[in-house]
Order: sequence, then C-alpha cells, then structure tokens
Amino acid sequence: MNPLAWLALGSAAYWGVPYTVWQWWGLGVVQRGLGSARGELGLTFDDGPDPQTTPQILDALKEAGVRATFFTLGKRVEENPQLVARLLSEGHELALHGYRHRHGWLRLPSEAYGDVLAGAKALEKVSGRKPLFFRPPHGAYTWAQMAAAGKLGLKPVHWTLEAHDWHPRYGPPDVLKRVAELATPGDIIVMHDAGPGGRTSVKALPQLLAELDSRGFNPKPLAELRGLREGAWRDLPKRAWVATVDRFFDGVYHVEELNYSAHSVFRVAPGKFPGPAVKAADGRTIEPGAPAAELHLHSERMARAGEAGSLTAFRFFKRSMSDLARAAQEKPYLAQAQVFWGVSLFQEVLEPVGFQMVELPPARRKFLGAYMHFLHKMYGGTPLKRVWPKLVYIDRGALLERYG
Ligand SMILES: [Zn+2]
Repeated sequence: MNPLAWLALGSAAYWGVPYTVWQWWGLGVVQRGLGSARGELGLTFDDGPDPQTTPQILDALKEAGVRATFFTLGKRVEENPQLVARLLSEGHELALHGYRHRHGWLRLPSEAYGDVLAGAKALEKVSGRKPLFFRPPHGAYTWAQMAAAGKLGLKPVHWTLEAHDWHPRYGPPDVLKRVAELATPGDIIVMHDAGPGGRTSVKALPQLLAELDSRGFNPKPLAELRGLREGAWRDLPKRAWVATVDRFFDGVYHVEELNYSAHSVFRVAPGKFPGPAVKAADGRTIEPGAPAAELHLHSERMARAGEAGSLTAFRFFKRSMSDLARAAQEKPYLAQAQVFWGVSLFQEVLEPVGFQMVELPPARRKFLGAYMHFLHKMYGGTPLKRVWPKLVYIDRGALLERYG
C-alpha cells in the first residue's frame, strides 16, 4: 500500500472508529437514565468552574432546590477551589471534562491520554474525592482518552439533549423553548456554566428550571439518576429508523406536538374522521368525514415508559389525556375536532382511560398489525400477545367531561 493509503487507514482507525462507535452509536458510553413516571432527567453543566458565571448558575439551582453534575476542567478547578467547595457543599456532583478544553482529535495520543490523568488528579487534589464520570471536550472521544478513563475507572457519559446554549443564534428564550419542548424523561441534558454557553445559561436557567418543574420533570445529578444506560447494539435499528422513516413521515403529515407535561405521549394531526360511523358517549353518531384529530404516539417516550414498567406506561397515558383535553380547548387547530382517534395495539391501556374501540376491516387489520408489531419490537417494547390493532376513539364531549 502507498503511504497515503496507510494514512487514510490510520485516520479511520484513530478518529473514525471512536466517532462512530462511541460518539455516534454510544456503545459503552452512558447515554440516558430511566424514563420513569417521576420525570427524572440528568442535568449536566460543562466547562467550569468559572468565577464569572458558575456562581449565578449555582444560585439559580439553589433557588430551585435542584442539584446537578458539573463536568469541570482540572485547570479551572485548581484556579477556583472556593467554587469547587461551594459546589460540593450544595450537594452537586463533580465530574471530569479534562484538564484543558481542547478537542481530543487535535492532540497527540500521548497528550490526550495525559490530559485525562492530569484532570482527574487535579479534581481529586482539590475536592478530596475521585470523580465517577468523564465527558471529553466537545463529546469527542479518542482511543487515548478512553484508555485513560478506563485506567481510572471513569464512566464515559454523553447526552441525549443539547441545550444549544453555546450556539451564537440561541438566546435564553431559544434555549428555554428547545429544552422545554424536547425534554423526555430519562434524558441527559448538557448545558454550560462557563464561556458563551454559560452566559446564555445564566439568563435562561431560573425560568428553565421553573418550566421543567411545572411540567413534572425532576432534574438530578447523574449519580442519582436511576437506570443509567449505555448505548447498545439493539438501539441501532431504532436510531436509523428515527433518522430516516420517522423524519420522512413527520415531513409528509402535519403532526403537532402537545407536550405539556413530562408524560405526554400523544401527538396530533388534525383532519377528517375516516370512519366507520361510531357512537359518541352521549349516543350521538359521529359520521365519517367529521372534523377530527388523529392521535400519534410519541414512540420514544412510550418506549422509555414501557422500559420503566406497564404501570408507568399507564400513568403516562392518563396524564396525556389531560394534556389532550387542554389542547382541545386551547389549540385553534383542534377547536372543531369532534373526535380524537387512532389505530393502536395498546387497547388494554386505552380502554381504562376512556377510549372506545371498533374493529378494523380484515385487510387493514392484518397489514397494520404486522407493521405495528414490527415497530413495537424495534422500539424495544415487551412482546405483546397476539393482539390486532383496533380503531380507538374518544369523542370531544367525553374527553372534556372526564379530563377537561
Ligand atoms: Zn466543553
């Protein structure tokens, strides 16, 4: 092979493999916690401590009674021991980001390795305890950093939701909106308590914490987040599906997120009721073509709720009904909807929360059944017994009477 080919091969092995396996697929890297009915989230701040911004971040957390994990830089820890002392005395968790903030790819392997060791040493010297978790700068992993983390017994941690506080086009309201709309129980959120991200987060944080609380979220330091979970091979088909097919359908259909609470699993698409004619709870008939809204499930939330147990899934559905009732009254695009319907396998959960159901025509039932069982399996759901999908619906009157 010529030298260029060797160089390409070497680069692929040193950068490409870690990028794909750790950063992208998350194999062996903590990605999230359990998506339980308590709405737990891992809240993390990178790059500090910084005397300009960290104290205000700590103030906001204290005010809200929230504790978090700080991925700190060894050099800044050495320069700001009083901030480290405050952080620990207020119950936050100290974790390692590195000694200096430099992208792992731009360092020699020996330098990248040494940086992790030096960072951990600085943290231990100043705080008197060993960190448990490690997240490299930019979430960029190399063999050298992972080898050093392995030697020290540090658990590598990525994230599932970036607040984008570092982004030049994101002001505090954008960060607030992004996190509030995208957060899902079990997520690990990354924000910053230093640099440009820190300056944005200082302004966004008090309102963001209030918003998360009002939606039923419960932010925690990573060491207290239940069910910490690494990426796994079995997640890969799902990720590929979400990135391609799901995204395609979301583009084709106009699906609205309801997402008022941590436990919302419904998304809605306004349209006409496809029929057959069905009976409303008060005995009226709802004809095909009546203004309606189709319910779609938020698959990832459902999958995480299912992981936490069937009782959790039931709680998610129940709270989602209140969100649906609220949306039916508040959202202009649902003002005319007479019936909310969907096609579902989850009849055992939907019946007790107020849905009625009718059989689908045999051909549709077979086709949709195969498709829905495939999806359910791909999202890691516990196997369902041989159930056919049914058309499930709740009329507006019944919804508002029960949940309005
Ligand atoms: Zn960083």
